[in-house]
Amino acid sequence: MQEEKLILDGKKVSGSMKEALEPRIARLAEEGIVPCLATILVGDDPASATYVRMKGNACKRLGIESLRVALPASTTTGELIAEINRLNADPAVHGILLQHPVPHAIDERAAFDAIAIDKDVDGVTTLGYARTAFGTARFPSCTPAAILAILDAYKLPIEGKHAVVIGRSPILGKPVSAMLLNRNATVTTCHSRTENLPDIVRLADIVVAAVGKPSFVQGDWIKEGAVVLDAGYNEGNIGDVDYDACIRRAFAITPVPAGVGPVTIATLLKHTVDAAEFAVSLA
Ligand code: NAP
Repeated sequence: MQEEKLILDGKKVSGSMKEALEPRIARLAEEGIVPCLATILVGDDPASATYVRMKGNACKRLGIESLRVALPASTTTGELIAEINRLNADPAVHGILLQHPVPHAIDERAAFDAIAIDKDVDGVTTLGYARTAFGTARFPSCTPAAILAILDAYKLPIEGKHAVVIGRSPILGKPVSAMLLNRNATVTTCHSRTENLPDIVRLADIVVAAVGKPSFVQGDWIKEGAVVLDAGYNEGNIGDVDYDACIRRAFAITPVPAGVGPVTIATLLKHTVDAAEFAVSLA
């Protein structure tokens, strides 16, 4: 008999997250507040433009204002920081998202760190990351938070499990490792210099793929009954996991598309509403 597989449905999880935001947005509207997310796109990378457009459209569908700032590829670090400071000072803007990556000539870390902590809805500042590591962040990075939200929505246990994260970027691999550790998983973080990667992944109860390489994680790396979360989003809607091969051994797995991606966007919307409510509480 074929074993039942659990497909972790990101659309379903994001749908209930967005539904829960509706009454909160309505309550803010009664006070004359429309949550507003400012997105900054520097340059003309088509994939980044698509991500920004998707985020903006998701905002509009829910009644969140989306303020799009598009800057030329020739923008300097100083000019970008000046724009961020303008948004920091604007009380109508509740969240700021600087789309990664920015052109090479810009100091991305300096630009991220210019975002005011109360508006850092994607947890990209050094302080936001540090608070994520301490488990005290108001806004942990959206994709890591989405991965945790999927595990929680399906009541998949984290405590005591061995989680192997493949990738150590500051917006994904590192913060998701910290968040899993804070939930009492035993965490191994792997990267491009890791030796014997397949053998390490074979030990995992939970696998998080955050590599940026299409179909990178192979089926025979997956322990029978493991939970596989694929954060990858490569050209052609291809994840970082070889889905057809990995599903044979996994107990539960996220598809691409319709897995981590929609929950990441729902998390961004939630953080923007959280930020708007916080701003009202301070006013
Ligand atoms: P990134 O900054 O390029 O980081 C990739 C990581 O993978 C690095 O830590 C790198 O190691 C590691 N890596 C590369 N080759 C490897 C190999 N052969 N073996 C083991 N590790 C290897 O990428 P990212 O921004 O974290 O994004 C990762 C993926 O998630 C991408 O597909 C991206 O599109 C996707 N993503 C999805 C969402 C979403 O909403 N679903 C959001 C953000 C990103 P080193 O550190 O040693 O270089």
